[in-house]
Amino acid sequence: MALSYQSTRGGQQGVTASQAILQGLAADGGLFMPTEIPKLDVSLSQLASMTYQETAYAVMRLFLTDYTEEELKSCISKAYDSKFDTEEIAPLVKAGGMYYLELFHGKTIAFKDMALSILPHLMTTAAAKNHADKEIVILTATSGDTGKAAMAGFADVPGTRIIVFYPKNGVSPVQELQMRTQKGANTSVVAIHGNFDDAQSGVKKLFGDGEFNCLLGEKGFQFSSANSINIGRLVPQIVYYVYAYAKLLENQEIAEGETINVAVPTGNFGNILAAYFAKEMGLPIGRLICASNDNKVLYDFFTTGTYDRNREFILTNSPSMDILISSNLERLIYLSTGCDAAANARLMEELSADGRYTVTEAMREKMKDFWGGFAGWEEDAGEIRRVFEDTGYLMDTHTGVASYVCRRYSEETGDQAKCVVASTASPYKFSRSVMEALKGSQPEADEFQLIDQMSALSGVPVPQAVEEIRSAPIRHNRECGSGQMKEEVADILGL
Ligand SMILES: *Cc1c(COP(=O)(O)O)cnc(C)c1O
Repeated sequence: MALSYQSTRGGQQGVTASQAILQGLAADGGLFMPTEIPKLDVSLSQLASMTYQETAYAVMRLFLTDYTEEELKSCISKAYDSKFDTEEIAPLVKAGGMYYLELFHGKTIAFKDMALSILPHLMTTAAAKNHADKEIVILTATSGDTGKAAMAGFADVPGTRIIVFYPKNGVSPVQELQMRTQKGANTSVVAIHGNFDDAQSGVKKLFGDGEFNCLLGEKGFQFSSANSINIGRLVPQIVYYVYAYAKLLENQEIAEGETINVAVPTGNFGNILAAYFAKEMGLPIGRLICASNDNKVLYDFFTTGTYDRNREFILTNSPSMDILISSNLERLIYLSTGCDAAANARLMEELSADGRYTVTEAMREKMKDFWGGFAGWEEDAGEIRRVFEDTGYLMDTHTGVASYVCRRYSEETGDQAKCVVASTASPYKFSRSVMEALKGSQPEADEFQLIDQMSALSGVPVPQAVEEIRSAPIRHNRECGSGQMKEEVADILGL
């Protein structure tokens, strides 16, 4: 049974999965959505005995229906191999009554690797299937982790180029070093004088610039996206929620069919939306706990029904969540209108004109499985320290936000269901902030001294991804104003 995709704003319909992946964003600025969310067609007990790769096939085949079995299995086996430092790919660790789903065992030690290890394979397969003859230019806005993970995936992939824009003062030192030392003749990195929202809006604007896209086409290029607006990012992210449930079942932590909750540290709303898709596929998930940092635009949305980006953008110690325009929320809005593209488009126009919109009560009713919470630095740091002192388990600053919010959720609602917390980054990626959380004051040492101190304290070896950047030469020095992204792209591509 073939599944087709359509734009959340109504301008494109009847698109195949491979075309949607190749294109990234729909031509009308909307996001691609499947016409329906397919149901899992294997039982939970069957899933309990599957490997990560087998689970990936069982889930992804239902969405990517125009890929052959051979194509999809080949993409999966190339993606989820020894690049990951654990055979389980996404281990589930029990600590202090919670289950931390570790999504940071890939090459760049953040959860973006889970989808970006496979996206390049899905995309080059899509290009071949659709006889695309142009060189694909992946334009990426990053709050710190997507950029590196996308480059690690696309570096030196024939027929592709990748250009990454990151906020100059909005990423951690390790994140910045990881990006600026990236190898690969087809990779470019640009620091913009602005925040993540500026980078993401700039990239979306380039996608929608008809004249510029024509010029690109004449020169033999075509844009695509590695951001979570690409359905090829979202679908692989569903897999690990299904896998986590299956592991809980296999380890007899839950009974078959028992409802669990999921808590996700959220920025662009991609990761938690994948959990919602898993629930809609039939996985017994109760509440989707949406955890924000001080940029709590989503918390306000879920508690009031008004999305309002008109507020100060705060730089926090969980920088990958420093976002005021959560792009993937558009997919949930679209679903909650009953897939009324015109209604969704009107709200998105309001967002772009006034920076805010309010949804109807009927729409809120459809979103009631989501529960919003937030944690400032004090709560986040307290959670990291407390869990480490109590259990010896060390988490990063993003995971700390979700862990704290998850605990608050149980206290406030009395809901006793077991909770899977998405653990989105290695603490080594944010060593300064994590050490500050443990010590209770700002550490004096330099970045790599702190990394060594953290290893001594936690007993967790320094990951390869961090060792690599200790002495790697800087390869990227580009910078531009947030209004100059088009000129920068033209210069990089030699237009
Ligand atoms: C990207 C990222 C997030 C936010 O994920 P979204 O899908 O954008 O909501 C959270 N934590 C880390 C470490 C990230 O890299």
